[in-house]
Amino acid sequence: MTYIKPAWFLNNKFEKESNLFTLSNIETEYSTYSYLCHCKRVQNIVGTTKPEYKCKCGNSTFIDVKKAVKDFKGFISYLYHNKKIKINFDLHHKIDIIDNKVQAIFYTNVPVYIDENIKKCIYKEFVIASVTPSKTKNELKIQKEFSKEIKPRLLKMLEDREIFENHINSTLLSRRGSKIREKQIDFFLNHHNLKDKEFLTWSNGDLLKGDNLSIQKALIELAANKKSKSVKKAIFKCYEFQMNDTKKFNPLLIYIATNKFSDLNFIVNIIELFHINNDKYLSKLERVVLFEFIDFLLKTYTQKQVYIFLKNFENFINLDKNNFKRAYIVFQDILNQFKIIKLDLTNDFKKVKCTPRGIHDEFVRILNSKLYRC
Ligand SMILES: [Zn+2]
Repeated sequence: MTYIKPAWFLNNKFEKESNLFTLSNIETEYSTYSYLCHCKRVQNIVGTTKPEYKCKCGNSTFIDVKKAVKDFKGFISYLYHNKKIKINFDLHHKIDIIDNKVQAIFYTNVPVYIDENIKKCIYKEFVIASVTPSKTKNELKIQKEFSKEIKPRLLKMLEDREIFENHINSTLLSRRGSKIREKQIDFFLNHHNLKDKEFLTWSNGDLLKGDNLSIQKALIELAANKKSKSVKKAIFKCYEFQMNDTKKFNPLLIYIATNKFSDLNFIVNIIELFHINNDKYLSKLERVVLFEFIDFLLKTYTQKQVYIFLKNFENFINLDKNNFKRAYIVFQDILNQFKIIKLDLTNDFKKVKCTPRGIHDEFVRILNSKLYRC
């Protein structure tokens, strides 16, 4: 096995820059082909086709930056680490915020652009591994190519919790020694954009993407730019209701209503399904599956029909509070079935009445027919 440092090939097209060619209105395919060798030599070649190039140090293997940028993780494992040559990327580390989480990060710099005017190369950071410290579980997802090298170093970084905690505004934390403080730290390390202690009662807080969110700003973000006052009013009302009812808030169904529906009436109507728009109902549902299921319904039925589908569960619970568990189990059941057969639905699904019973039975039919086929 040969280990080499990465050498890069970059192709800067002229098209967008104003230069001699574009000014004189001549259509041109001229490009700059840049070779950045691991021996630090840089060679720029202007031409119309990619030239063969061998560096003075003897190296002629250059990685096309475009391929790396497209899907960095896939690129390193499939294209380069499975070959006889292994690329030794320069690794750097820091503590920073990605996806609103305070994380220990290992990254490498990849040149993405050469500005010939100022003779400067612009680099982009590509994350190789990252992790947020947690008292309960540290999920270390590291590509096997880097596991041996990075894992112990990441774990070492996690040991110094203070450095991470310094990223949290101390006014969000209770006094040292207080029982709830550790929970608060875990939460705000994972939700760095949420700036109110009350967010601790939220589930699915990571659906919120805005910076420096207060509770009020977060509720407005949930309206997903729907200008209607009635949508915002319904959201605020729902917040109050959920907090009074369970002392918890789960914005999942509101998020679905405002992001997946466009008809303002149905958005408001869904938000007001207070029995199912509730942490008790939503907390254990698998979010991704629920999103996909609603997408499927909206592709197949009208917004009104999908709203009525949801309202069926609400009505059932409204009839008798003891129906809550059954309503939940039926919904969960439908989602579990959907998860198994979702890829077959385009071909197999027969458009039945958009009711819990109708959808459930149709899913069962598809499931059974699949079993028979095996
Ligand atoms: Zn070289």
